[in-house]
Formats: sequence, structure tokens, C-alpha cells
Amino acid sequence: MTERPEKTLLICSLTADNVAHMRRELAEAVRAGATAVELRLDYLRPLPSPAYLKTLLAGCPVPSIATCRPVRQGGLYDGPEDQRLKVLQAAAEAGATWLDIELDVPQRGTAFAKGPLLLRSYHDFQGVPRDLDAIRGSLEAVDSAATKKVAFAARGPEDALKAMDFLRASRQPAIALAMGEAGVLSRILARKFGAMGTFAALRPGSESAPGQPTIEEFKNLYRWDSMDAATKVFGVIGCPVAHSMSPAIHNAAFAAAGMNAVYVPLRIEPGRDNFFHFLDALLQRPWMDWRGLSVTIPHKENALEYVGQANCDDLARKIGAVNTITVSPGGELRGDNTDYAAALDALCGAMGIAREALAGRTAAVLGAGGAARAIVAALRHYQADVTIYNRTVSRAEALAGEFGAKAAGLDALNRVEGEIIINCTPVGMHPKVDASPLENIPPGVKAAFDTIYNPIETKLLRQARAAGAVALSGLEMFLLQGVKQFEIWTGKQAPRDVMRETVVKCLGKGP
Ligand code: NAP
Repeated sequence: MTERPEKTLLICSLTADNVAHMRRELAEAVRAGATAVELRLDYLRPLPSPAYLKTLLAGCPVPSIATCRPVRQGGLYDGPEDQRLKVLQAAAEAGATWLDIELDVPQRGTAFAKGPLLLRSYHDFQGVPRDLDAIRGSLEAVDSAATKKVAFAARGPEDALKAMDFLRASRQPAIALAMGEAGVLSRILARKFGAMGTFAALRPGSESAPGQPTIEEFKNLYRWDSMDAATKVFGVIGCPVAHSMSPAIHNAAFAAAGMNAVYVPLRIEPGRDNFFHFLDALLQRPWMDWRGLSVTIPHKENALEYVGQANCDDLARKIGAVNTITVSPGGELRGDNTDYAAALDALCGAMGIAREALAGRTAAVLGAGGAARAIVAALRHYQADVTIYNRTVSRAEALAGEFGAKAAGLDALNRVEGEIIINCTPVGMHPKVDASPLENIPPGVKAAFDTIYNPIETKLLRQARAAGAVALSGLEMFLLQGVKQFEIWTGKQAPRDVMRETVVKCLGKGP
């Protein structure tokens, strides 16, 4: 039987279309930190000769997997089967460490029973195979000594959890991956669950299967090198979630605080049922060591309902939304809303006042959506005198009615009155950075708070500064909601400077 690898291999899939280019990719992958490479021979045009395979594999400094995936298993090779098997045989003779042989290739009749190590693979690009246990049984039966690999399409992150079930149930070295954005969790956590390997792309766009992070993302974003069986897991639930800055911020914070923890993106399609299914599946697996979740659009209300009003803080209940779930080691849940406190503290910090000093001050809130809701609740809690201005007046009226504020339409903005102006609309956000919700900053405005954080300095903030008012970017609110999440989850002071630098760096990379 093959040995379980001491450390899970970070396998870079090489997908160049000619041998010279693939050789360069191989060197690049090793330099970037790959601890194994997969040569996707089905990407090469034409299929390489034995001599070319020797050139490719000569002096390869890391273990290699030779794969020539046929179209029927999601690969690019569409020629005769005997040619495919011949090329794999030649790769074995050229020194490949493993040969990837699909489960539907009979063991007898192939020359692969001896020689290089075998990786028996099964792929399903439609979804989770109905009977994963039976597939594991077949993979174990066909070559008892081979490493098993199963890869299937994930519809939601609960499918990624099934890949972890597969790894835990495997008696022999295994790889189990859920493909697609929703399955990325199974790739990132492969090391925590003792997989033989996980696959990484060399660069964005060179993925050999959907959802593969790059080597750089594994190592620098998802803390690959420090992950082990004891790593605690956190994540952000949202849709969309791919461009969320939260994984970068929280992983940087965990690293700076020396914590054995990782934070992953979780794409859950809109809908209460989708959210509930995932949370149910997660809580059924306490061995995942899940400790916390950030929740963003469109699931904040679902989070409140799932956690239950009784387990949420007063502010979350008042706003009707939870953006932070804490999971105890025993599986108990707690819900918080850190948007509210983040907005308050960012505003009061910029104005140099205590929260209580908001009482009696006049505030104009532009917009009546989710961000406005948290801010209006906060301002009213501290007895500020709030007027909500919104494009859809009825929404402003409904929100105002709930929290005891006043309501107006956008046409009233030219007569806007308030010591504090808070923009909770996307007007001025990237790419329409020349827009501002106000033509001029009215006299008497002491502070302007734009909840937008991209760009960091909006036109509204430039107008406010020119008018002598305090100007506060949404970056502060965004940062503080993450800081407060970190502190709720860990009980430690958050490394704010590291988190701020990370946000600024992410924003510098553009949307
Ligand atoms: P939302 O729930 O969709 O609400 C958007 C609000 O903006 C609605 O009141 C909408 O008016 C109004 N609006 C949209 N387009 C408009 C336009 N072209 N002209 C005038 N009004 C317009 O969104 P949200 O979650 O509240 O987010 C709103 C803003 O807050 C975004 O810019 C976001 O970047 C920011 N935000 C920042 C943070 C942070 O941490 N800094 C957190 C959350 C949100 P109708 O009611 O008429 O549709």
C-alpha cells in the first residue's frame, strides 16, 4: 500500500499546449511553491512523443502526475483509447511518479498494474454522484494500492462537505474535490483533512477544473503552509462572494495574531432554503471545527432567523439582520450585527464625540436599503434627529416609521438640513466616481459620511472637505465591522493596522 504523504501535496496543474511551454510552467510552479505537478498531457498539441516526455520530466524536482484526461471524463483528449494509454505508458517510462487512470479503465489489459504509482480517478461534472460510498468502494476494489481521487461539481458549499466526508471515510490516500466556486472550500481545506493532495492553478485563467485557486492564493491568502488537522475554520456567506475582501482581511488578521485558523468564501445562492441547508449540513459535522461566519447580501435576514431571535444581540434583533455568526465548540450559535456598531464608532470617532453626544443632533440619511437601516437604527437608538431621503419615498417612509425618523424624496435634497450627512446609496461608487448625491454641501454640515469604500475618497467626501466639514469614508465602517467580528470570535484585540493595510491593498488592486 502506498504511504499517506507526510504533508498534503500542493499540486499545480500544468495546462500549456506545447512541451516547451509546459517545461517553463513546471519551473514556474516549483518556484511559486508547488510541491507536486500534474502534467495535463491532454492539453498538449500534438500528444507528446516518448522523447518529448523525457525532456519534460528530466530532472523534475517534485513528484509528478501524468494525466491524459479523455473528453468522456471532462478532459480534452478525443483520440483513440489505445493511443492515450500508450502516451501514459511512455510518461511512466519517462519517470512520472503517478499515472492518473480513470475508474472506467479496466485494470487488466493495461500495463499499469506495476511500475509508477497509480491514481484512480472518478469525475462527475453534473453534480454529486448519488452513491459516493459505492464509488469509494469501487475505487478501492479496482486497485487496492492506488491513491483514490474523486471530483464532482458542487451546487452549494454543502456539497463540498461531502468531499470531506469522503476523505474521512477513506482507508487509503485520497483526493476529494468539489468543483466550481461553491466547492472551493474542499480544495482549501484538503490539508486539514489529510488529503493526498489538492490542485492549484499556476495563474488566474490556467485552471484545469472550475474553482481551483492559484498557488499564490493557497499560500498567501488561504494560509496553506500553516494549516493542519487542528486548524479552526471561518468563512463568509454571500452571493456573489468571489470579490469579497473579507477572506483577505480575516486571514491576514489570523496570521498576524498567530492563530491556527483559516477563513474561506462560501457562495450560497439566494433563498432561505439554501442558507438553511448549508447551516444544517455544517452543524451535523462538528469535526469541521467551524467557529464563525460572516454573512452578507442576501442572507443577513436568513441568518437572524436561523440563529433565532433569542440567540442574537439586541441590535441585530432591532435591525432584523445578523452579519456575524459565532459557533461554539458544542455547536451553539450566536448572532450579532457588527455593521451597526461599526457605523456608529466610525462616525463618532471621526467627529471626536461619544455615542451619547449624538442625542439631539440632526442627521440626513440618503437611501433606505440595508446599510441605511443599520445606520438609522443606530442613530435613533442614540436619539439623533434623523431624516431619510430616498428615491422610492415609500421605502423611506416605511423605514422612518419603524425607527421614529422623518422621510422625504430625493427632490427635497436641495433643501437638506442636517449637521451630519450620510450617504447610503451607491451614487459615487466605482466606476461612476464623478457622481455625488448632492450638488453642494449645505451650510451647517459638520460631517459627511459616505458608506461607499470604493473609491476610498468619493466626490461627496471631496465636496465635504472643501466645505470645511469632517469627511469619513465607508472604509472605516467596513474595517470596523471586520475588527468587531474578529474580536467576537477570538476574544482578542484585532490587529487593526494589518486589517487596514489589507483593505487598502485590496482596493488598490481595483474591483
Ligand atoms: P441596498 O439595500 O440595495 O439599498 C440601496 C439604496 O440606494 C436604496 O435606498 C436605493 O433606493 C438607493 N439607490 C440605488 N441606486 C440609486 C440611485 N442611482 N440614485 C439614488 N438612490 C439610489 O444597498 P445597501 O446594502 O444598503 O448598500 C448601499 C450602499 O452602502 C452601497 O454603496 C454600499 O457600498 C454601501 N455599504 C457600505 C458598507 C460598509 O461597510 N462601508 C456596508 C454595506 C453597504 P431605492 O429604495 O429607490 O431603490
